[in-house]
Amino acid sequence: MKHSHVLVSGASRGIGAAIALELARQGIVVGCLSRSGVLPDFAGEASSLHTRLLPIATDVTDPAVFAEAVAEFIDKTGHKPSGLINNAGIHTACPSHRLSADDFRQVMDANALSVLFGCQAIYPFLLEIGGGLIINIGSFYDRLGIKQNIAYCASKAAVGAITRCLAVEWAKHGIRVLNVAPGYIKTDINREAIEHGPLGEFLAKRIPRSEPGEPDEVAKLVAGLFAMDSGFLTGETIYIDGGQSITD
Ligand code: NAP
Repeated sequence: MKHSHVLVSGASRGIGAAIALELARQGIVVGCLSRSGVLPDFAGEASSLHTRLLPIATDVTDPAVFAEAVAEFIDKTGHKPSGLINNAGIHTACPSHRLSADDFRQVMDANALSVLFGCQAIYPFLLEIGGGLIINIGSFYDRLGIKQNIAYCASKAAVGAITRCLAVEWAKHGIRVLNVAPGYIKTDINREAIEHGPLGEFLAKRIPRSEPGEPDEVAKLVAGLFAMDSGFLTGETIYIDGGQSITD
């Protein structure tokens, strides 16, 4: 399947913005979903690139609003999307004995339920066009036990499980579902801590490739998966972490 129209959630900055730009560089028209509705920064790109970026303000934690965003994209472009990258997410840290149910739910809503809502919103259109590709952005924290990160780790483990279940359930429709799980990537979530705190020094020793990733490196993987369209690849979690999760 050749992909010409794709949606990316959390595309206003960070990893999602890099993914949207990389897909647009490949000629794909990209629906850029975020609460702010801000487009990724396309300064320095080819002058025509921004015409392939469509901003859509939405909240991915509300299933009706997510479905409206997909409808708006189809209405404005006249095309049904053949792909979705569920990238929007949040991170919070809190000692587990003090974490409230509301705070736990907020992270699960933003990181895990939003993935299900996105998949549900695009499903009828993928059925109509005979298949498609959904890539969820998880995290290598999905299989680690990290202090004060119980909600985030649980939410990302759920992303892996949602990916596997939908991949199996929807394979007969030609719909593939993958989970791309990054390690430390320099974005607004952690830039201050990496560049000015002890985290940077720790990661230089801890990551076998000696430094955190850049959003572009995740974007190239995601765009590559869209370009290669390898039909037998589905349900997998693909780690991109410079080797951090497999070293001793
Ligand atoms: P980021 O720089 O904080 O960007 C998060 C994006 O999500 C923004 O575009 C934000 O836009 C959007 N967003 C958040 N909540 C939303 C909502 N309810 N509805 C719609 N959009 C929402 O984060 P990032 O570092 O790029 O992370 C992106 C994804 O990668 C997340 O799922 C994160 O867990 C995952 N990840 C990141 C790292 C890392 O080291 N950075 C590592 C592993 C996994 P608005 O504020 O405009 O809504």
